Amino acid sequence: MPKLLKVLISHVEIDKAVERLASEITRDYRRKNPLLIGILKGSFVFMADLVRRLDMPLEVDFIRLSSYGSGTESCGKIRISGKLNSQVEGRHVIVVEDIIDTGLTTSYYLRYIRGRKPASVALCALADKPSRRKTHIKIDYRGFKVPDKFIVGYGIDFNERYRNLPDICYIE
Ligand code: 5GP
Repeated sequence: MPKLLKVLISHVEIDKAVERLASEITRDYRRKNPLLIGILKGSFVFMADLVRRLDMPLEVDFIRLSSYGSGTESCGKIRISGKLNSQVEGRHVIVVEDIIDTGLTTSYYLRYIRGRKPASVALCALADKPSRRKTHIKIDYRGFKVPDKFIVGYGIDFNERYRNLPDICYIE
């Protein structure tokens, strides 16, 4: 591991959190055949671990969101790329995110999904950085609260690197 990376949440702690989230989701969705929509690319590892612990009928789809405008912070102008193959109307949708920071990206997408008449929408996020929030957002299933540090690993990147790290790390 490069020296500038420090482990914030180990793979053992991640494992326990995913297990907990899976049991909460199982309790709430057992007979609802939920549609889990992962936000790419950051959620792909989390989604893969989560669904393997959900012992019930479900469907998985993915969408890619990019915020346009310059800089590293999202400004709330979001482009949705790719198309869901799944029908959303009447479905119980769980949006699966890697990290909620300002909340602008996710709240844009939640509004978009609600406009497609699902039976219900919930949000599941691996990490939550509440100190930077710019909009109110309800996280129904939350893995971890994280400090205001730039995190990588477990699917989350810095310039496309570090997605393969098993732990969640921060860049010092
Ligand atoms: P928001 O709209 O909530 O500010 O932005 C959410 C997106 O910003 C996340 O899905 C993620 O792609 C990116 N992001 C926010 N915080 C971090 C972070 O600490 N590390 C990385 N790698 N991406 C982050």
